[in-house]
Amino acid sequence: MRKVPIYTALILAFILAATNIFAQYDQEKDEKLSFINEAPYKTVTVKSIEGEKVKNVILMIGDGMGLTQISTAWVANRGDLNMTKMPFTGLVRTYAANKLITDSGAAGTAMATGQKTSYHSVGVDVNGNPLPSLTDLAKAKGLSTAVVVTCGLTDATPAAFCANNADRDMEEELAADFLDCNVDFILGGGRDKFIKRTDGRDLMKEMEQKGYQVTRTWEETSKINSGKVFAVLEDGQLPMAEKRDGIWQHASMKAIEMLSKNDEGFFAMLEGSRIDDCGHWHDIPKLMGEIFDFDQTIGKVLQWAEKDGETLVIVLADHETGGLTLLDGSIENGTVKGHFSTGGHSDIMVPVFAYGPQAEKFVGVYENTDIFKKISEILNLLP
Ligand code: MG
Ligand code: ZN
Repeated sequence: MRKVPIYTALILAFILAATNIFAQYDQEKDEKLSFINEAPYKTVTVKSIEGEKVKNVILMIGDGMGLTQISTAWVANRGDLNMTKMPFTGLVRTYAANKLITDSGAAGTAMATGQKTSYHSVGVDVNGNPLPSLTDLAKAKGLSTAVVVTCGLTDATPAAFCANNADRDMEEELAADFLDCNVDFILGGGRDKFIKRTDGRDLMKEMEQKGYQVTRTWEETSKINSGKVFAVLEDGQLPMAEKRDGIWQHASMKAIEMLSKNDEGFFAMLEGSRIDDCGHWHDIPKLMGEIFDFDQTIGKVLQWAEKDGETLVIVLADHETGGLTLLDGSIENGTVKGHFSTGGHSDIMVPVFAYGPQAEKFVGVYENTDIFKKISEILNLLP
């Protein structure tokens, strides 16, 4: 009967190892579900704008940033955020034309073009026909335009403004669409899709031939003060907030400064793209880092808009990600504890915050397509 103790020992060892692995996994999971903000930041205070004239519109999209993501960040930053201090608020319904739970493709298209489209489509209607986006229409009216994101440029949100395709996964085709999008200041990641292509084209070079100043680092980009910019800073997405050195924030302000030289005005779409990733990963510490970077940028943008006096700033999300619930925390100590209910998106309405002339037009409950309608009306973009 010598075998029995050996088997017993083996089984016991296996159980012990498994328990250990599960305990470690649980601990890691727990660490991702709570957060303490050791260094809260100060928000800005801006005065309300008197006039009615809107020369510029800055649309800031927090991808996957639902109300609970914002509430969680508000608690973690000791009961203070720039976006929740903006004077006018609304709620937006996000569903796609053919699916209740949307994606960034259909949701981005709704905001960029004013039409609900199919899940996974970018810049096209339900039949696959290309639609003009806010950047196209603004450009046609003589305004300057910018798209500044932390994801790859062929990701769904920037693609909804710059490309047209029934399938957002056709990233090489989306990359080629950037050649004709005519946006003045483009910054993001996703370089691989422009140079490591099955058709052998070098789209970075082709953008240069189109008259763009093509850059690969923020350092190079930061030195440019006029002309068109095509900055693709990474092979994939830009790094997460803790390793990004504030690049998206600097790039957003750079784009605004450069675009504001146009007397006709400008339209800028600035996206905090990676908020969504943190929802998919169920990672609250990283989620807070992304929202804080997004919100601190909002603070800078609001101060700029206050000085300008003719700039409308709109902050919203394309949809919620992760089905986040805020379960516990402390406003005093900046602690939060959450729970995610899905690995995907949810269909809860998302908040809109607005500041500047005609910001009151964003009050109420409406469709994501109304974002396009309101902006195009305010800027008089439609024929
Ligand atoms: Mg996005
Ligand atoms: Zn997502």
